[in-house]
Formats: sequence, structure tokens, C-alpha cells
Amino acid sequence: MPDCLFCRIASGAVPATRVLETERTLAFRDINPQAPIHVLIIPKRHYRDLADLAAADARLLAELAGQAHEVALADGIAETGYRVVFNTGSNAGQTVDHAHAHVLGGRPMAWPPG
Ligand code: AMP
Ligand code: ZN
Repeated sequence: MPDCLFCRIASGAVPATRVLETERTLAFRDINPQAPIHVLIIPKRHYRDLADLAAADARLLAELAGQAHEVALADGIAETGYRVVFNTGSNAGQTVDHAHAHVLGGRPMAWPPG
């Protein structure tokens, strides 16, 4: 997907502050953080959203979930707690059509979210 921003980050064509990487996933800092810790985790391969990823490769989705906890451990928020979010579709505010998990932490967070 040549025009996809997150495909370009995965390939290294667009720079990002990388946090953790596996063969099939990449974690990098969100450019517009909404919490003291705000990291995005993507599959390196293009999937449009959570539903697309879940249908195509459930193991990869599980790996993404595992990486969310690895990011939390690496950034020191595993104990205090963190939130993992997949915005899906326009009402949820999805702006990049490449599946990604947000990992947010480092402060108390309101529930329900806005
Ligand atoms: P969403 O709105 O759920 O689709 O999330 C997309 C996220 O990507 C937003 O939180 C943006 O701040 C973030 N973002 C957009 N461009 C970049 C970039 N070049 N590097 C890192 N994060 C980005
Ligand atoms: Zn993509």
C-alpha cells in the first residue's frame, strides 16, 4: 500500500520513534500524544482495521496484544495500568486506515471515553 502512512513507517520510508519491533509488528510513539505514554502498535503488513486483521490473521492480532503489554513493561506503566484502543471507523475517530492499537498510560484516564 504505497500511499499508506503506516506502511511507509513500517518500511522506514517515513521516520518514527520506534519503541519495540518484532518480525511482524512495530511499536512507535504517537506524534500527537494524548497521555504521557502513547504508543501505536501496527502489523507491518497492511490491514485496514481491527476487523480486517482479526479475520485475516488471529495470531497476528494476538501478537499485537502481547506487544501492547511489552510496551507497557518497557515504558514502566504495566503496574499502574494502561489502556489499549483500536479506533474502528469514523464514529470512533479512526484517521489512518492501517490497523493500529493505541497504548495509553502514565496518568489516570476517564471512563467512559469521550
Ligand atoms: P486513529 O485516529 O485511531 O486512526 O490514530 C491515528 C494516530 O496516528 C493518531 O493518534 C495520530 O496522532 C497518529 N499519527 C499520525 N501520523 C503519525 C506519524 N507520522 N507518526 C506517529 N503517529 C502518527
Ligand atoms: Zn498500510
